Amino acid sequence: MALLKRVLIANRGEIAIRIAKAASALGLDSVGVYAPVDSLSLHTRFTTETREIGGPGEGNSVAAYLAVEALVESAKASACDCVHPGYGFLSERAAFAELCASEGLTFVGPPPAALSLFGDKIRARTLAQSLAIPVVGGSTEALTSPAEAQDLADDLGYPIMLKASAGGGGRGMRAVEEAGQMVEAFERCSSEAEAAFGNGSLLLEKLIARPRHIEVQILADSQGNAIHLHERDCSVQLRNQKVIEVAPAPELDETLRQKIHADAIKLVEAAEYQNAGTVEFLVSPETGEHFFIECNPRIQVEHTVTEQVTGVDIVEAQFRLASGASLESMGLGDQQSVGAPRGYAVQARVVAQGSGTIRAYKEPAGPGVRVDACGYQGYAPPSQFDPLLAKVICSSNSSSSFASAVERTLRALDEFHIAGLSTNLPQLRAILAHPDFRAGDARTTLLADESRILGALASPSSAASENGGALALLEEQANTLVADTGIGAPEPRVPTLEVETGQRAVECPIQSSVVEVRVSEGDAVAAGDTVLVVTAMKMETLVVSPCAGIVAAIETLSSGDAVGA
Ligand code: ADP
Ligand code: ADP
Ligand code: MG
Repeated sequence: MALLKRVLIANRGEIAIRIAKAASALGLDSVGVYAPVDSLSLHTRFTTETREIGGPGEGNSVAAYLAVEALVESAKASACDCVHPGYGFLSERAAFAELCASEGLTFVGPPPAALSLFGDKIRARTLAQSLAIPVVGGSTEALTSPAEAQDLADDLGYPIMLKASAGGGGRGMRAVEEAGQMVEAFERCSSEAEAAFGNGSLLLEKLIARPRHIEVQILADSQGNAIHLHERDCSVQLRNQKVIEVAPAPELDETLRQKIHADAIKLVEAAEYQNAGTVEFLVSPETGEHFFIECNPRIQVEHTVTEQVTGVDIVEAQFRLASGASLESMGLGDQQSVGAPRGYAVQARVVAQGSGTIRAYKEPAGPGVRVDACGYQGYAPPSQFDPLLAKVICSSNSSSSFASAVERTLRALDEFHIAGLSTNLPQLRAILAHPDFRAGDARTTLLADESRILGALASPSSAASENGGALALLEEQANTLVADTGIGAPEPRVPTLEVETGQRAVECPIQSSVVEVRVSEGDAVAAGDTVLVVTAMKMETLVVSPCAGIVAAIETLSSGDAVGA
């Protein structure tokens, strides 16, 4: 590559590793950064050089990765000529991109003007509307009070979705069913948005009932050309955060698909967008309508599924585009050169639930199986960061390729052995086995409607994990190692409630914090009833009663209390 030689990667975890590998494939040196609490994170070992960041008071928190000046200083001190922000953190901060530019560092992403435009959902909506791209009915400017929100909602009709203008990752967002809920919802969204994005500004939209989330991956060069790499379906979400993604979208009406692609291109062209980006839509399959919701001006967690079906390395493309290369020079000069997607790819996000040290770790492998991950034996993921441990991406281009990509993902998850740390692997398997998902008709409401999925427990579904299978051997050997060496032995548990003869205890399976206690002493419960809702970092889990009975005693717990496994 002509221009770029050395990149500072302003991120951590799996995406920092992904970026370091792309840099190395292109012949670039790379500089990694880490907060002190992250010194054993795997991303620190994939770069040419690694530097500790985080001033006093920042060392053990997200703030270390948000320290704009310190990061630019590190880039200059280590002779970098460009900065890749990854996703989250500073990826959408126009001020960071501006500072990079003024210090002579190439920002591997869109220009600051595009970041400001798409970092503000109201401005993005307004642009889309001006181009006759359908948007969900709602705000044209920021809401200033709950009363104003109520007035607008009365006009639109409930239910509505209240969301942070600067939002991302599903934070600062709530559905509001009726006027009486508005004041509280407004306050909570605004304060969450202020905490997460330093900007409490809110907008509201009509709530689309049971939509699919369909998004288009875009690449645009500095010469004014834009192409798309087809779409992804990211409808499987937990509290508006993506959990499983598919490329391309299965069972999508062909005419609708073409319209969505055309609208995505129209939007980025009007914004004079450059580099990789994603234009997100909600689709209402019942009416055949599509609505623009936002554009993410950065690499996304789920870019991998698009790579698997198009053969385009999107992170490498980001570097090339940032260095001024044209799409033409990359063999992507027009839509025809992209071609049709080859089969299907499915990504499952494996996240840690609670804390712990991984005492055994073996990733799945085989034809059509890709794992982008940051887990390893001995790693204790710091709790202050995103709990994403691994992305399992499986693809197939057989004739029944969606079904076989799903099947391959299910088997790969069955083969994934992680001991010592609780994960969402059981829930991911339950989703992949769900008939709606398998029919290519998952809606964003799937996990809310089918709360049993969240309560799913480890239940092997293939040979790799049946009794006497590979997973059993791995588990046995991991336990033997612990018994022999004491390494990775779990902390002893301290039960506090007495369980008398004839009674059964309900235990919380993971270290987590309490969201809600659903029962009181004296309540009658049926087997399978939820007694407790807990959250471990970003995933909620239901703790259910193993039997029917009466609640005899209950540990004093309230929302927010930490509980052990
Ligand atoms: P999204 O859900 O926004 O479409 P991703 O799933 O790719 O995108 O999100 C990537 C990660 O970055 C997630 O961990 C998410 O919580 C976080 N994130 C996304 N947008 C922002 C933002 N504006 N500020 C901080 N973190 C963000
Ligand atoms: P974020 O920036 O957090 O990614 P988005 O605006 O992209 O926020 O919305 C995230 C998810 O929230 C969507 O994929 C969808 O599931 C849900 N959502 C957002 N807006 C609406 C709406 N108007 N109606 C129904 N669901 C919505
Ligand atoms: Mg979004």
